[in-house]
Amino acid sequence: MEAVFILEAVLLGHVICFFLDRYLKGIHSPKYAIFLKILPVQIEFLNVKWATSVFNKTLNSWVVQKLWFLHKWYNLGTVVTLLICIPSMILLTSTALTSFQNLFQTIQEETALQPVLPGINLPKSDYCYYFITLLLCTVVHEVGHAIAALCEQVPLINMGFMLWLIIPAAFVELPTNCVHVLSPWKQLKIYCAGVWHNIILSTIALLMLFFLPYVLMPFFETGDGVYIVDLNQYLTKGLHDFQVGNQITHLNNCRVTDEQSWNQCLSDILRDSSFGFCLDDSYLSDKMNGDALCCNDSALSNSHLCFFTLPMSSSNNRYCLRARQVTNLSYGWCHEHNGCSVKQSCLVPLLSNENGNETDSTKFIEIKRHGENPILFIGQPQEIYSSVYISNYTPRTILGPIFAHRIEYLLRYLISFSAGLAMLNVVPCVYMDGQHIANAVSEIITNGRHNVLLKIFIKNVLIFVGTLLVVVNILLGLLVLIIK
Ligand SMILES: [Zn+2]
Repeated sequence: MEAVFILEAVLLGHVICFFLDRYLKGIHSPKYAIFLKILPVQIEFLNVKWATSVFNKTLNSWVVQKLWFLHKWYNLGTVVTLLICIPSMILLTSTALTSFQNLFQTIQEETALQPVLPGINLPKSDYCYYFITLLLCTVVHEVGHAIAALCEQVPLINMGFMLWLIIPAAFVELPTNCVHVLSPWKQLKIYCAGVWHNIILSTIALLMLFFLPYVLMPFFETGDGVYIVDLNQYLTKGLHDFQVGNQITHLNNCRVTDEQSWNQCLSDILRDSSFGFCLDDSYLSDKMNGDALCCNDSALSNSHLCFFTLPMSSSNNRYCLRARQVTNLSYGWCHEHNGCSVKQSCLVPLLSNENGNETDSTKFIEIKRHGENPILFIGQPQEIYSSVYISNYTPRTILGPIFAHRIEYLLRYLISFSAGLAMLNVVPCVYMDGQHIANAVSEIITNGRHNVLLKIFIKNVLIFVGTLLVVVNILLGLLVLIIK
């Protein structure tokens, strides 16, 4: 519903802008003429463009100064871009196959490439990252084309930004006749420059992400637990005491150092059968509860929890105890009776039906945190996963973790979007850089043979396969998103 609402609002906005523009131009509105002079936007149907040529001179003089380096830079970029053509097509093929399988199975396998659509698989909180990243990736991409073109003495017409539907992007206009008269290798350098810049941007973002904890070390602590940044509304029957600002170090006996280990611990707990606590037999000797209902249906059910010792053969080994007392007195974790020392028993919380057969994924989770009592959570691990927002960065100063969290998130988006854009553009698909790359490559392959038919054949086969791959991937990706 949210996706439909967003699409409707965007379409309506574009339609209003389009007709308003036509109307104001039609009546020769002087105020609108002044507005267009200040902000020269071109309003087309579902597309708003702004272009300028004011940077052309500055960029050109900068290119002239660095010409030697830039030639080497784009030669290297062209080789690297051509080298990733084949792996990109293999990756697209495997992604298409995985998406196709995902259409027919309930448990979905993760695909390397996935369409990201606001309102469908992009949370509202990520919209800002999405638009900033898209804009940055396309600016870097287009600047690549612009500089490479200037290196080959191809002048720029203009550069600017556009908003197609909801997608922001940068663009550069080049005189195509000037590009087409260049040698195939020089053309390749211009066409590959955008992809090359995206590869570089992705690599820089990856390195920054790797070094971020070291750069932010004076302000944030990392590697010793995760920091709770935010909580959403719980829809849980479980009890909890999560607080924003808690630094979580353990989920049961699973050590939490960062977001990855946090996710891993939660999925381990979800998969594992219930954990138990090793307690002295002497403590348990007078606390046995022979009643089959144990703590259930009694006044104690609000404050106590039913535990049983393994092996669970009868109701004679049940104990109605305060969970906090059990965790405080516990000597360690156990799965089986032999997980504890002699004269100790493995006490397991009874969270399901009276036979101990767990009917859902309800778990008892002891969540250890720095400086405060552990949180005792009874519920499903997925609830913690979807309700507790965490960061790898625990603040040392007044600088909040949201600062580091945003930088990290932006870098993650940059890595994946920039790499994705490079991968899509390198594939020989119509309307993409890959189409022009395929054209230039087929010219180089057939150079000197004067066989026009062979050149056209190679180019068309490449473009047909590439376009088919991209279209199939997009369609399957969208189908999986919509159906599942
Ligand atoms: Zn491009």
